[in-house]
Amino acid sequence: MKQVFLETFGCQMNVADSDRMESLLFQSGYLRTDQKEEADLIVVNTCSVREKAEQKVYSLFGQLLPLKEKNPDLILGLAGCLAQQEGDRLARRIPDLDFILGPDTIENISDAVAQAARQTKPLVWTRFDSHKEYSIPVLDVEDQPANLSAFVNIIKGCDKFCSFCIVPYTRGREKSREAEEIYAEVRSLVKRGAKEIFLLGQNVNAYGKHGLNKPIAFHELLYGVAEIPGVERLRFTTSYPGDFTEGMIRAYKDLDILMNHLHLPVQSGNDRILELMRRGHTAAEYRDMIARLRDAVPDIAVSSDIIVGFPTETEAEFEDTLKLMEEVDFDNNYMFSYSPRPGAPAAEWEDTVPEADKKLRLQKTMDLQNRLTLKNAQAFVGRKVEILVAERMERNGSDFKGRSPQYWTTHITGGNGELNIGDTAVVEIKETKGRVLIGRRTASGNG
Ligand code: SF4
Repeated sequence: MKQVFLETFGCQMNVADSDRMESLLFQSGYLRTDQKEEADLIVVNTCSVREKAEQKVYSLFGQLLPLKEKNPDLILGLAGCLAQQEGDRLARRIPDLDFILGPDTIENISDAVAQAARQTKPLVWTRFDSHKEYSIPVLDVEDQPANLSAFVNIIKGCDKFCSFCIVPYTRGREKSREAEEIYAEVRSLVKRGAKEIFLLGQNVNAYGKHGLNKPIAFHELLYGVAEIPGVERLRFTTSYPGDFTEGMIRAYKDLDILMNHLHLPVQSGNDRILELMRRGHTAAEYRDMIARLRDAVPDIAVSSDIIVGFPTETEAEFEDTLKLMEEVDFDNNYMFSYSPRPGAPAAEWEDTVPEADKKLRLQKTMDLQNRLTLKNAQAFVGRKVEILVAERMERNGSDFKGRSPQYWTTHITGGNGELNIGDTAVVEIKETKGRVLIGRRTASGNG
């Protein structure tokens, strides 16, 4: 078999897209390798959300081009959001590129590889029809083992048009995938070894709102997936506060396999900034959602995304974000200082907050979150927690590593010779090291 090296930047949607490309290429006779020097095909799946994404791509291609000089048959492809947004320009800047695909055209990867082998100039395949139904046919890849924790796309695109974000422009409008197709993919993944299913989308809880032949709501989809034999854990990401429902709270209460973790980005704690961001909710509404959720599911962990230094944000408005973080008592947060994303509406506005102030604000949010995270990790000491064993450890004095239902990384001692990857172990948490829980598998063994 030929070999493909896939390099992935960015979010879990991109990881899922890379897994999908891997399966499609597997059908065309390619096996994934982690050695780019051995590859016949290299695909870089890009992200345009983070700053300097383009520079990263140029510098990576700087390293890849000598491989192409050594092996002129090597095929080089670019995929993902940056490819979608800047495809033509990147094709001109990197003449050795063989093909370019956007997130919506990755289904064509096998054709792109075949065509790239024949043509002399880069094939740019990024046009997509945002009115087309969203379907990802389930592949017949019985021989290909699935990841223990497997990603399943349920919705693509976003209709929210937050002013700082380019997703609606690179991934198009919200389109849900038919539930039956999702169930079929989950059944296939479980058969091939998956135990934990992550339902994915830029805005999963808008699922079912647009264009399904058999409309169902997001929480109904959760109940449907939970019924599939072999699914031991269920998670989803990312959710949008404006589409948060009572049905989701009910699902957390009812479904034992729906893990107690919610990632619900708030972005800011100040209403004027939230309005400028076009988020469609206030800080009070966000607090209220979390309070209702915690009322129903006290053990749930909550994480979020925060942007500091948004154009015109004052020091007092930034303090509102710190207040909200403290009140909600987040378990984790992904924190960024604002930088304009070309193509997003806010990129046209003056970036008013000086870099030094942004840096200081970011540091304050990181310090606060660090304190909250360490405190919340400490609260697990003495508790027994069910951990899905995901990896064997070779150092740190632990035998295995896995995740708690609340998504805390946990190191496990005392499992050698008895535990296997994919088991669920009951672990008594003895201590914490930074953000990591450390515990001993209890005598009762697997959970
Ligand atoms: S909801 Fe999320 S993906 Fe959609 S526009 Fe806003 S930030 Fe972007």
